[in-house]
Amino acid sequence: MVGRRHSHFFFSLLSLPSHRITIPLYYRLLLLLCFPLALALVPPVPPSNYGGGGDGGASVLSLPRNKSLRFSAGAGAAFKIAIFADLHYGENAWTDWGPQQDANSDRVLSAVLDKENPDFVIYLGDVVTANNLPIPNASLYWDRAISATRSRGIPWATVFGNHDDAAFEWPSDWFSSSGIPEVRCPTANISSTGAEQCSFRGTPRIDLMNTEINNNRLSYSATGPKELWPSVSNYVLQILSSKEMDPVALLYFLDSGGGSYPEVISNAQAKWFQAQSQIINPNGKVPEIIFWHIPSIAFSKVAPKPNSEIDKPCVGSINLESVAPQDAEWGIMDILAKRPSVKAIFSGHNHGLDWCCPYQKLWLCFARHTGYGGYGDWPRGARIIEITEQPFSLKSWIRMENGTEHSDLILSS
Ligand SMILES: [Zn+2]
Repeated sequence: MVGRRHSHFFFSLLSLPSHRITIPLYYRLLLLLCFPLALALVPPVPPSNYGGGGDGGASVLSLPRNKSLRFSAGAGAAFKIAIFADLHYGENAWTDWGPQQDANSDRVLSAVLDKENPDFVIYLGDVVTANNLPIPNASLYWDRAISATRSRGIPWATVFGNHDDAAFEWPSDWFSSSGIPEVRCPTANISSTGAEQCSFRGTPRIDLMNTEINNNRLSYSATGPKELWPSVSNYVLQILSSKEMDPVALLYFLDSGGGSYPEVISNAQAKWFQAQSQIINPNGKVPEIIFWHIPSIAFSKVAPKPNSEIDKPCVGSINLESVAPQDAEWGIMDILAKRPSVKAIFSGHNHGLDWCCPYQKLWLCFARHTGYGGYGDWPRGARIIEITEQPFSLKSWIRMENGTEHSDLILSS
């Protein structure tokens, strides 16, 4: 920590052995007096830039402590992240099929978490299928999705997909003689207002995120700067070395839209990323990894032809559809591709794709369809990423529900 380093300096000034050092006493006193002034002049970074309520504890990067993860000491110095993409909890709750899919998704999460024992989990959007949720508070399903991670004491972060705050879509056959089926509400195990009644209404992004953050000590999610709304899940986390306060990697989360507004990363978000990275990592010394739900148009440019083999340099196991990219490109890819510190971008959204392909100097990777909700009948799994320090490396593989592993790849070393 900066503070600790400064205090070492402070005490070394106090304890300078006079027989070896020739600095006169009044200079030493002047230095001591100037020291608090110098500290006061260090410009603080407003916590709102990171969206979280900062605790004021500045690290070397000025990221608040609640935005910092850490390598555990002596564990082979690796930091492992499991990516859960497209869980789609809460589908067709008025049928037997829907709740069964949620139970199946619970099983995948447990299988992957128990096999991999990750240090951190990223929920990469489409956590719930809000357009299918017959309840006033999608947070009830959201909470179910994070409970497998929470119950194991593993911290996590979430970003939004295009289904998380989508408006309820009324099935047209409900207007036939069969009528509207009786709604089965999940039991509320979190305190939330408005959950008493069952009705057909989605939950806004900001409410989903605030409910998660306010009820979960292990959540590293944030609501991002207000200027970027309606996009909400925009924030940065750092992973610190086990012994030092030096960051080994920076994780950037961006809201790629969809649901209640267009599927885009706005120019304002691109500028925000640029400003943040300039402040936090000005010389690009720290490797950066990006997470968002909907692939950018660049993913379509490098995609292997749908239903063809995935040939080198791409690595993956399913290639069953075309990339369904964001609606427009408003500058973020240009910025990312020009930063050598950006190593990879991870997306979900296309359930039938799980490949990684190089794009200029970085990697574009799909996660793996993790939940039983959402389209597709391929086996479920999760993309795992592992970061090592000294030397830095970024590896990835896919862990399947049945325990098998495939698509091993070194993304940076
Ligand atoms: Zn999805």
